This record gives sequence, C-alpha cells and structure tokens, in this order.
Amino acid sequence: MNQDKKYKNISYRTVAGYLAGMVGGLICGLCGCTQAKEFEAAGTAMGTIIHQKIYGTQDITSEIEDEIVRLETQLLSRREEASEISRINEYAGQAEGLILSEELSDILTEIWGISKESGGALDITVGPVVTLWNIDTYALMDEGFTVPTEQELTEALRLTGYDKVCIQQDKLFLPEGMSLDLGAVGKGIACDRICKILEASPEVTGAVISVGGSVVTYGEKPDGTSWIVGIQNPRVTDGTGNYVGKLKLSGNWFVSTSGDYERYVEKDGIRYHHIMNPMTGYPAKSDVVSVTILSKEGILSDALSTACFVLGKEEGFALAKRYGAEILTVDENGKIDMSEGMKQYFQP
Ligand code: AMP
Ligand code: MG
Repeated sequence: MNQDKKYKNISYRTVAGYLAGMVGGLICGLCGCTQAKEFEAAGTAMGTIIHQKIYGTQDITSEIEDEIVRLETQLLSRREEASEISRINEYAGQAEGLILSEELSDILTEIWGISKESGGALDITVGPVVTLWNIDTYALMDEGFTVPTEQELTEALRLTGYDKVCIQQDKLFLPEGMSLDLGAVGKGIACDRICKILEASPEVTGAVISVGGSVVTYGEKPDGTSWIVGIQNPRVTDGTGNYVGKLKLSGNWFVSTSGDYERYVEKDGIRYHHIMNPMTGYPAKSDVVSVTILSKEGILSDALSTACFVLGKEEGFALAKRYGAEILTVDENGKIDMSEGMKQYFQP
C-alpha cells in the first residue's frame, strides 16, 4: 500500500513513547539485550480514534494501521466507494445476487446468526433508518435537526429487515432499495484482525489497542501488571476521563461499549442517539444507557454491545449468557449491573 493511501484516513500523531522506544532500542542495541520496548501510536480511522500501545522488540503499529485502513476502505465502509459493502449496496436488487469474498461471507454469516439470536435487535440492514435520522451529522452540527415523520419512518422501515436478505454460501441477495451498514460491528471486526496480526508477530509480547468503543488486549505487560480498560461514565463525557470503573484483564480479550452518549442530538429535552431499535425505527429506549461486553471475539463483543443496548437489561443479560460473554450495564441513574463472571474483572 503506498504512503498516500495509507495516510488517507489515519492522521498520525507521533507519540512520546514511540521516540522513547527508539532511544531505548539504540541503548539496548549497544548492550545486545532484547528487552520489550513500548511503542505507541494514535490516529483516526473508521470514523473514530485508534490508540495503540504495543510491547515487544519491534514496532508493528504501522502494519496494524494498514490493516485497519484496508478493512475500512476495501471491505466494510458504506462511505468508501471502493469497498465491497459499497459495491453490494450499489447493486441491491439484482436477481442473480452478488458473489461475496470469503472474508465478507464469513463475517455476514456470523452477523446473521446474532441478528436471529437477538430477535432482530442487531440488524445491519437498518441503514435507511440511520440515514433518515442522520444523527452522525447532527451530533456535530446541533442545528437543523428534525424528528422524522411517521410516514418517513414507515417508508424507511419498509427497506429494512435482515430476514429479507438471503445469504447462500458465497452469494448475497439484497432486495432493491435495501443496504448494509456495518457500523455496529466494524470496530470489533478490526480488533479481531489486529489480534490475528499480533498472534503472528513473535516479536510482540503484549498490546492494548482501542478502535473507538472496542478494545483488544493481547498477551502480557512487561511488568506483569494487568491491562486496564476504563468504562466511560455515560453522563460525564467531557473527555476528562470520568469512568464508572475499570476492567483489569490479562491475556487476550475483547471489550466493546455501546452507549447513548457517543453520538446524539438533544431536542425539546429528548436525547436522540445513534443506536436504533430496528422494530420501531426510533433511537432505542431501554432501561440502560450503556452496555459493555467482554468476550473472546471482537465481532461478538461489538455486535452484542449494540444488540444488548437495544434489548435492555433482562434480555441483554440472557443474550450475552447464551454467547458465553460477560456484560455490564449502566442505567440513567448511574446504577451498575453486571453478570457474575464480570465481577472478577471489574473494579469501581
Ligand atoms: P455501536 O456504537 O457499536 O453500538 O454501533 C452503532 C452504529 O451501528 C450506528 O452508528 C449505526 O451505524 C449502526 N446501528 C444503529 N442501530 C443499529 C442496530 N440496531 N443494529 C445494527 N446496526 C445499528
Ligand atoms: Mg457495536
């Protein structure tokens, strides 16, 4: 991948730890020791902030960036003209269906399973509803937002429904006017791919990498302490690092959080946020305002955090359990609930 392409979506901030790593490397090079160094990098891709901290004898942060950019531009993003998802959306309605790459076929098959299991709470055909509300744009502008009319919502809902889409092995049949939006799972998919790269890099001994609200931890920290993943306080989101608590983890884990604080607009005292209830076409309203999932698979943690947010506490806990994942929810009053298994990792 050439440099222009590589930096199209990632604007790189050089981080002090990276320089420190290089200096440390020189010193270590002189004495011949192979102590793990810390490499740090930050940037933006997939419409969010990526932060990497890697421990080992070699800096592979740019290899990881390349992979995130590949996933976004060539596979997953509906905003990238050249991505496979854009091609699928463009050719919706073709009677003969579209041939899927093996990579996307595996991803979609897994997502369809979770859609069925969640009773449609996770539905990546919700795109027309997402576009109608356009929360992403109004969350930034805060002006000109209007609530869609019932007629507009009915029309948008007519073009949604994962059960109207047919996947047969490597072929996808997407009805005319429908589209796929992988916003709810893309960051988790990126974390899965990052973990694969880390596993294939013997020079890396540990890493913690966040892709927006999804985090992957890998291996161990050189000093033997745990990886710390903070859980955002959903009602204090001014960037001052206000957390309801943290997860202390060791080894390979995936953590995803979905909340009504990430992107939202307020109008007449009502918060309209970016996670939709695919049944009603309105922003999901349940008894939780944030859901964190801890699991051994990135796509699963991301998909479940969105689905469980829509479902609410009772059904969300049951769904997470069926997938062997741990769940933590925060409600409007700041009350925290968590699955039994989560308790061993959580610290207030
Ligand atoms: P997340 O932050 O992972 O919960 O994902 C939210 C994003 O997924 C939104 O910005 C939409 O693009 C998309 N989305 C919203 N509601 C749903 C839903 N119920 N199922 C699938 N995708 C959704
Ligand atoms: Mg998600």
